[in-house]
Amino acid sequence: MKNAGEIRPPRSSILQKLIAVHHEKQGNMEEISEAGKNYILLMKVLKENSSYPEASLLSHKRLCDEWYVIQSEYDVDAGLKCICGKENIHHHHVIRNRFNNAVIDPIGSKCVKRFEIEQLAITCMCCAKPLGESNPYLEAYMKYSSVKKDTLIIGHRKCAKKLFIEPKMPGYILLPKAVISYFKNLGVSVRTDHFTSIEFEYDEENERLTPYIEMILDF
Ligand SMILES: [Zn+2]
Ligand SMILES: [Zn+2]
Repeated sequence: MKNAGEIRPPRSSILQKLIAVHHEKQGNMEEISEAGKNYILLMKVLKENSSYPEASLLSHKRLCDEWYVIQSEYDVDAGLKCICGKENIHHHHVIRNRFNNAVIDPIGSKCVKRFEIEQLAITCMCCAKPLGESNPYLEAYMKYSSVKKDTLIIGHRKCAKKLFIEPKMPGYILLPKAVISYFKNLGVSVRTDHFTSIEFEYDEENERLTPYIEMILDF
């Protein structure tokens, strides 16, 4: 009688316990938070658009790794709703499945981060350094237009200064043809006044460009 001291509950009580745990879980589902609901909804959409036929078996990482951001935008009015259900989002993105090319639009910034979806690798057009999402030039540009990987953005104070000032002629403002052409493509005419100041001119309908132009001028 080695195991005399061991107390084994009868089978039926184990079953009752399991049933009790199950009910508890169901109860929690009803009280699930808003963020939890958004998470479940987005997971569902990602699975439905997955390139894998067995998407429900996939790890979270495998499922999210299929996607990458192809376009980002800042909506001043926050009028859009993320596919997870969250309303009034400012930063929204378009994501693409790298294997089956499915596109999901729009998805909010929080979801892109939460699901660790590969973000747009935007670089400065002048120095090729990556522009993080808090880069003020990128932020200002996005108030004017959506951006893609190859969008031409001047991303640094040093780079903006180099556009207009030759190191050999410090203090004198020059306007190379390429600079005039870059701004012309944005709908902006630029000229310099006696090599000391720069003047930007653009139509009222392009006023969303103002934050970007102001950033460029602040060198
Ligand atoms: Zn979302
Ligand atoms: Zn730069």
